[in-house]
Amino acid sequence: MTTNHTTTAAAIGLDDCRRMDAADVLAPLRQRFALPAGDIYLDGNSLGAQPVAAAQRAQEVVTQEWGKDLIRSWNSAGWVDMPLRLGNLIAPLIGAGENEVAVVDGTSLNLYKVLHTALRISAQDRPQARRIISERSNFPTDLYIAQSLCQQFGYELVLIEPEELPTCLQDDVAVLLLTHVNYRTGAMHDMQALTAAAHAKGILTIWDLCHSAGAVPVDLHGSDADFAIGCSYKYLNGGPGAPAFVWVHPRHVNRHAQPLSGWHGHDAPFAFVPGYEPAPNIARYQCGTQPVVSMALLECGLQVFAEAQALGGMAALRRKSLALTDLFIQLIEQECAGHGLGVATPREHAQRGSQVSLTREYGAGIDGDSGAYAIVQALIARGVIGDFRAGGGPGSRHLDILRFGFTPLYVGFEDVWHAVAHVRAVLQSQEWRKPEFNQRKSVT
Ligand SMILES: *Cc1c(COP(=O)(O)O)cnc(C)c1O
Repeated sequence: MTTNHTTTAAAIGLDDCRRMDAADVLAPLRQRFALPAGDIYLDGNSLGAQPVAAAQRAQEVVTQEWGKDLIRSWNSAGWVDMPLRLGNLIAPLIGAGENEVAVVDGTSLNLYKVLHTALRISAQDRPQARRIISERSNFPTDLYIAQSLCQQFGYELVLIEPEELPTCLQDDVAVLLLTHVNYRTGAMHDMQALTAAAHAKGILTIWDLCHSAGAVPVDLHGSDADFAIGCSYKYLNGGPGAPAFVWVHPRHVNRHAQPLSGWHGHDAPFAFVPGYEPAPNIARYQCGTQPVVSMALLECGLQVFAEAQALGGMAALRRKSLALTDLFIQLIEQECAGHGLGVATPREHAQRGSQVSLTREYGAGIDGDSGAYAIVQALIARGVIGDFRAGGGPGSRHLDILRFGFTPLYVGFEDVWHAVAHVRAVLQSQEWRKPEFNQRKSVT
C-alpha cells in the first residue's frame, strides 16, 4: 500500500517529519551540540546538552587560564566580570535590560535573596499583608525556601491550585511566587495578566524561569514583573550545576541589601573595608567567589543563543518548540492509542512551555503502580532519554508523569517520529514489565 496523503489526511508519516526538518531554519544549530550518536535526547528541560565549544573551553580555562596565568586571570581572562557579562547574554532572552541580570549562585539561593528583599519591601509598604501565595505543584525547593523565610519573619505560605488564580490575590497577600512553566505538566502561566492582577492589589511578583529561560520568550519588563530567578543548566545548556541567574526590576534593586551580603556584592570588594556597602545595581546580588570553570562553560551555552539570534532568536525557537510539541502530541495519539497514556500538557499554545508530559493512571502498571517509571526506563534503554516525575499517589489529582523536553536548538522533527515509535514498541511489547525497568533509582 502506498501512502496517500489525500486519503489519510490526518495521519502524519516519517516523510512529513523529514520535510519539517528540511524546512527548519534552526536545524544548523544542532551541530553546536555534542549529542551521542543513536540517542534521542528529550531531557534538555532537566540537563541541557553539551555545547561542542564547552570541551575546548574547559581545556583552555583549566590549562591556560588557571594552569599558566593563575591569579592574573581574574583580570586578564575577565573572570571577575563573568556574573554580569553572562547576565547580559541572558537578558535578551527574558526581556531584561543591560546590566540588570547577574549570573551567580544557585536558583534556590537566588530565590532566598529575592524573596527576602520582596518581604522587606512589602513589610515597609504594606505591613498588613502577611501571606505568600504559591502553587501546590510548584517545584519543591521554591516552597522549601519560602517556608524558611515564613518561619523567620512570621509570614504564612498559602498553596493554591492554578484555577484559584487570580481570585486568591487579596489585600493580605505580600508576594506571589510562581514558576512560569510548571516543571511537571509544562503548563505556562500568563505572566503579564497575573502580574497585573497582583499589582492591582499591591502584591509583588517573583517569577521562577527555570523552565522558561531559553525555552519560551519571556518579557520581564513588558510584564512589569518585580523579581525573577532561574537556572542555567536546563534550556540554557550551562552544564551540570552551572550557576543560576537573578533579575530585580530597577525600581527595587537598590532599595535594600540582599540578605547574603558577601564581599562580591560590595560596591568596592577590593577596598577590603570592614563595613558592608552594597553595589548600586544587580551586582549586589553576588555573594562570594563564583565557580569560574562552570561559568566559562555556561558562556558556551549562551553563545549558541547569540548565534540563534541571527536565525530569528526566541521567536523562531518558540515556533519550532510549538511545532515539535504539537507533533509529539499528535503522534502519541496516532501511534499509541489504547495504552493508557494521557496528555497532561495544555494543548493551547499560549499555555504550553517546551515539554510534553504524558500520564498513566495508578493501577495501569505492576502492583498498583502506574508503569510510568518503568516505561521511561525502557525508553532510556533504547536511547530515548526522557524522565519520570512521581505523582501524588492514588486519589491525587497529580498522576505519575513521563516527561519529554523538546529543546528547539537540537531536537529535530524526525527525532520526534522515532521517539514515538519507541514509545509504541515499549508499550506493545510490554517490554517495560521487565524487572530491571521497575527498580527505582535515586535520581528519576
Ligand atoms: C530546576 C528547578 C530548580 C532548581 O533549583 P537549584 O537551586 O538549581 O537546585 C528550582 N526551581 C524550579 C522551578 C526548577 O525547575
